[in-house]
Amino acid sequence: MKRALLLFSKGLDSLLAGKIIESQGIQVVPITYITPFFNWEYHNNPQKYYEYCKSLGFQESYLIDITEEYLSILKKPRYGFGCLANPCVACKTFMISKTKKLLNELQADFIVTGEVLGQRPKSQNKWAMEVIKDESGADDLLVRPLSAKLLPPSLPERLGWIDREKLYGISGRNRQMQFQLAKKFNIKNFPTPAGGCLLTDPEIGRRMLKILKEKRTLNPLTAKLSVQGRHFFTNDSWIVLGRNHKENVKLFNLVRNQLPVFTLSVPAPIAVVVEGTPTLEYIKDLLIRYSKKAQKHIANGFNIEIVQPNPLEFTFESLPTPHQRVAENN
Ligand code: SF4
Repeated sequence: MKRALLLFSKGLDSLLAGKIIESQGIQVVPITYITPFFNWEYHNNPQKYYEYCKSLGFQESYLIDITEEYLSILKKPRYGFGCLANPCVACKTFMISKTKKLLNELQADFIVTGEVLGQRPKSQNKWAMEVIKDESGADDLLVRPLSAKLLPPSLPERLGWIDREKLYGISGRNRQMQFQLAKKFNIKNFPTPAGGCLLTDPEIGRRMLKILKEKRTLNPLTAKLSVQGRHFFTNDSWIVLGRNHKENVKLFNLVRNQLPVFTLSVPAPIAVVVEGTPTLEYIKDLLIRYSKKAQKHIANGFNIEIVQPNPLEFTFESLPTPHQRVAENN
């Protein structure tokens, strides 16, 4: 039996691509790449991913963390960015080339993706799809079942491993055909089309562009920090404050013993110093802005101190963004 590796973003298109190929008697093996910007929810719980794939009928699947390599792409994306900080052409090229290298190891014969011609102006036009095919090295071994009839026949089609007549010729942004196919394959709860890449999120995308433009520290830890909290940048510092109790605890656990962390002697958010050595007064001032208790204490004439947090002793508190005060500069 032939085996195909499916670049599985968890979106409907890649799922359909897998199902179309599977319906031709090929064993489809989903490969999902994770970074703090996409599919990170599985990082600490890969079992959940494997069970999800099994629930879709895929018995064998792989989850691969590519954070380190992905950050290099983000710092210098060949062919630039999409609408925000998403380097889609370079990202797809990288993921497909990585999948190509897995073909031998996983004893698979070709690669399948859910790309649709003309669906995304920058990364799924004819030119970009050619570039991705060539530069990934996948070349003839890359099958795009949703748009295959609009593209030159791939090797698996030419060799008769799969029947080209049973592939599709979908193009453009209209998703009616995909919805019909979802019915055909009895797929009911399909995820969002974009697959939830945080680099396309307006707030996070803009913040990441700033981090890149200003050549701020970007490593796996700061990448994880960049997708949460409130961010405050000065010329020589970068501070992150948690927005609620859950986020404060998460931030604390993330940076514990790796970066300086502060809070107040009354319930307040935590502040992580990502870059630079800002003064304690500056950090304290930021923390007070987001702590109702601190503001009350000060109004009543009490002293508050800036301290190092201990989650067993401190209750974190974060106020909503105070519009009338100094805004976050993220
Ligand atoms: S949206 Fe994000 S995950 Fe998808 S191709 Fe673009 S950069 Fe990669």
